Amino acid sequence: MKVLVINSGSSSIKYQLLDMNTEEVLSKGLVERIGINGSRIVHRINGEKHILEEEIPDHEVGLKRVLELLTSEKYGVLKDLKEIDAVGHRVVHGGERFASSVKITDEVLKTIEALSFLAPLHNPANIMGIKSAMKLLPGVPQVGVFDTAFHQKMPAKAYLYAIPYEYYEKYKIRRYGFHGTSHRYVSKRAAEILGKPYNELKIITVHVGNGASVAAVNKGVSVDTSMGFTPLEGLVMGTRSGDIDPAIVEFLEKEEGLSAKEVVNILNKKSGVLGLTKGFSSDMRDIEDNAIEGDPVCRLAFDVYEYRIAKYIGAYAAAMNGVDAIVFTAGVGENSPIMREEIIENYLGYLGITIDKEANNIRGEEKIISTPDSKVVAMVVPTNEELMIARDTKEIIEKGLDELKL
Ligand code: AMP
Repeated sequence: MKVLVINSGSSSIKYQLLDMNTEEVLSKGLVERIGINGSRIVHRINGEKHILEEEIPDHEVGLKRVLELLTSEKYGVLKDLKEIDAVGHRVVHGGERFASSVKITDEVLKTIEALSFLAPLHNPANIMGIKSAMKLLPGVPQVGVFDTAFHQKMPAKAYLYAIPYEYYEKYKIRRYGFHGTSHRYVSKRAAEILGKPYNELKIITVHVGNGASVAAVNKGVSVDTSMGFTPLEGLVMGTRSGDIDPAIVEFLEKEEGLSAKEVVNILNKKSGVLGLTKGFSSDMRDIEDNAIEGDPVCRLAFDVYEYRIAKYIGAYAAAMNGVDAIVFTAGVGENSPIMREEIIENYLGYLGITIDKEANNIRGEEKIISTPDSKVVAMVVPTNEELMIARDTKEIIEKGLDELKL
């Protein structure tokens, strides 16, 4: 079975074609700058990268070109589009309606549209990808896999904000959490690597990339996570502040003569390590390099970043009344031995974890990085959201399901 995975953003489409009999990636790529000058497709097959610069006015044209490439003689891996058995879509917000991955029907599509008020930047972009795929691949089943779904089993004590309850009832203001597909993939994979049943383990997953969140996965269920109503809450990120005192919003409005919208924009786009380093960089590679060389501004930003992660790990060990494994993933988590070492050495000794410095000296591979006598295992598991989406899609289609419970 061949599955096309699509992650459609406001001006981009990420795609991956997988042979799900072997889970091999046949081709993948990215359509960039859709509707903007300088649009292009970065298309990969057989380890080769091809850059095609062309005008792509909208998502439908973008996806049409991807399908043409996938079936072309020069860049293709398929003889005919009929070889695509199903399409799996990443959808950011499933609200309270979607706690599972689902086959996309007209009713499901309408519900995703209705949930756009919770994710006004993301869901409309996801919908453009779904509609384009439905039009260009008629009759091919489509599946939606939601970033929020894995966190839908969080108990009310974890998802409710202590604000007037009517706002939850009226506007559904609550914590949803994001990166669910990644937290689900790496926690399951961690259990496999440890050779223990998923439903017996207490796992803390630390997904730190451009966006960043931590999740507490207790016996296979996400019982808490650091992102909330939006992806702004929780950890310090590249450009997002994470947790702050909400009274700062009004203070800045008054002192800087800004609107609430402008302040929130600053918290989303000009804060995090970018803000802490006075606009120097949002990329942790830059921050890390300069911190190591002794730059005090970058060192402090790195400290704030690590400290927040360590605090969440402590909080989630408490939330689950214990922890068996701590899993690092995503861009920074997979590629920064120093960040992992400093967090474990400076903050996690009380849990009985000792870092194995040699094992930790790796990037982007599955590895246990704590010593064998540690009471809690620390490990790196590279995330693979596309594979998780393709697996859900395959299962739904092969078993003829309307939805797949997570
Ligand atoms: P992601 O959003 O998961 O693709 O992660 C992207 C982020 O990973 C980048 O912004 C970098 O800050 C970070 N990153 C990638 N490689 C490294 C590295 N070698 N050391 C530290 N951070 C890295």
